[in-house]
Amino acid sequence: SSSISKLLLICAISGGAHISFSETQSEHSVNSVQTFTDVKKKKKVLVLGTGWAGISFLKNLDVSSFDVQVVSPRNYFAFTPLLPSVTCGTVEARSIVEPIRNIIKKKNGGIQFWEAECIQIDAANKRVVCRSNVDNLLEKAEFLLDYDYLVVAIGAQVNTFNTVGVMEHCHFLKEVEDAQRIRKNVIDCFEKASLPNLSEEEKRTNLHFVIVGGGPTGVEFAAELHDFVQENLVKLYPKVQDLVRITVVHSGDHILNTYDKRISSFAEQKFQRDGIEVKTGCRVVGVSGKTIDIKVKSKGETYSVPYGMVVWSTGTATRPVVRDYMEQIGQTNRHTLATDEWLRVEGCDNVYAVGDCATINQRKVMEDIATIFSIADKDNSGTLTVKEFQDVVDDILVRYPQVNLYLRSKHLHSVADLLNDPQKNERKEVDIEGFKSALSHVDSQMKSLPATAQVAAQQGSYLAACFNRMEESQLKPEGPLRFRESGHHQFRPFQYKHFGQFAPLGGEQTAAELPGDWVSMGHSTQWLWYSVYASKQVSWRTRVLVVSDWTRKFIFGRDSSRI
Ligand code: FAD
Repeated sequence: SSSISKLLLICAISGGAHISFSETQSEHSVNSVQTFTDVKKKKKVLVLGTGWAGISFLKNLDVSSFDVQVVSPRNYFAFTPLLPSVTCGTVEARSIVEPIRNIIKKKNGGIQFWEAECIQIDAANKRVVCRSNVDNLLEKAEFLLDYDYLVVAIGAQVNTFNTVGVMEHCHFLKEVEDAQRIRKNVIDCFEKASLPNLSEEEKRTNLHFVIVGGGPTGVEFAAELHDFVQENLVKLYPKVQDLVRITVVHSGDHILNTYDKRISSFAEQKFQRDGIEVKTGCRVVGVSGKTIDIKVKSKGETYSVPYGMVVWSTGTATRPVVRDYMEQIGQTNRHTLATDEWLRVEGCDNVYAVGDCATINQRKVMEDIATIFSIADKDNSGTLTVKEFQDVVDDILVRYPQVNLYLRSKHLHSVADLLNDPQKNERKEVDIEGFKSALSHVDSQMKSLPATAQVAAQQGSYLAACFNRMEESQLKPEGPLRFRESGHHQFRPFQYKHFGQFAPLGGEQTAAELPGDWVSMGHSTQWLWYSVYASKQVSWRTRVLVVSDWTRKFIFGRDSSRI
């Protein structure tokens, strides 16, 4: 199977090439020569952010129809799934970033980029306030940009849960700079521990690496660090090799608890064999310059452990500019911007939100389903013909395809029986309340979409497709029937397709959860991981750099210079 995976790697790389080629072709065909009057008539689209969602939107947008501007404090796109590999030098930082100007160059001048941070969204006046991070600009640093359509794609920031000392003493793993800092600090810890005048206890403390959070990022970093130590550093620092300790602190009962149970227990067993300590059911309640305070949830006891370095990886929180905007539009008491299924920010015209900063409002699902029912059951009799009932279910499915899975589940088997009834015009007693309560059970199981690159990229390209068809779909709406007004919705709602997820566990082993409940673990899955991540690179340049970094690591090992 490893040779099949190697073959996959080659196919994926050539597959990636095909994608880039076709994208480039379509980009050229849509960018016809524009006259000044054309530009004047175009609607202004303003995109905030150049991460997964923003870039996917821009790459797929037909820029000939809009006047497009992009604002982001960083002038590059970062391939975040490879950030843990940057922390230990498996991959170099520059190999996973693509300059924004390279990406927009392919749009033949159809996009303007401003390296700045949006500091306020003024939805009432349809404009945003931006501030450049470049030094010495003084009063020229701030500027205003107005828009007809705003696409908010500014991601999220780290979440410290207001734990004392985290901001001051912990490392994060969110941005490229974070990964570079971690890389330097790991080497620092080894160099410090090798100094002649430190006691053994002090050396042990310096080489105690604590990772807070047993989610995919924390686990992958722990695995990378373990490999770096075992494959490279023990040979370079032989005197301190037995003093290294890696601890993962996790508040849940199992690490990787959003993955299939088989993956979670495979990871725990592998970490145990590797000597990585996993402390589950524990919360970090404070961090000082020298120790980390850990509370055992079941006993309520707190103890302190000395450390050399702490990496905090416990999820994400809302950025201040989004929080401020949410207050303006009455979306308080939420963690992310609420959108409808068309990714429009609720309560705000012509503003869209995609990626980690937004969540499709699930509570509305039940409201909509209740409305569909009340419209069908006009006389409030609690009875519908089989045909009417079928229309209701079709209407629900077109808006919420996820419900389809549950139509076959035990909660709704009576519905399936009814739908199969050949007497379509016969009026049947439908247990509408029972059906609604079964669906509300379904609703609570329909978790909101995970904050992943996969979701962000799909939302970006969905939104671009809607923008590209904006004019024609106004005349010929392509979405489902409206049930509050007549006619159809302009577009079909956003529908997420899950292609699976990986959890690299070190030692050239990876676990993967693939569509259709497939789970695959071990060395051959690592080759699948290499193939997928090579093919998903945004450009040929980064694809070649990443693959050559992997090859360099196999031949020469990772570099341990502290630069
Ligand atoms: P981001 O990609 O974070 O982009 C946000 C953009 O907004 C950035 O360009 C930022 O500079 C910009 N910005 C920030 N503030 C402002 C402002 N005030 N004004 C204007 N612009 C602003 N997901 C997966 O699917 N698979 C993985 O393997 C995976 N691994 C990960 C590993 C790590 C270490 C991390 C941190 C994340 C990982 N993720 C993974 C999650 C994934 O990276 C995020 O879900 C994804 O980046 C979200 O995309 P986004 O566009 O919403 O936000």
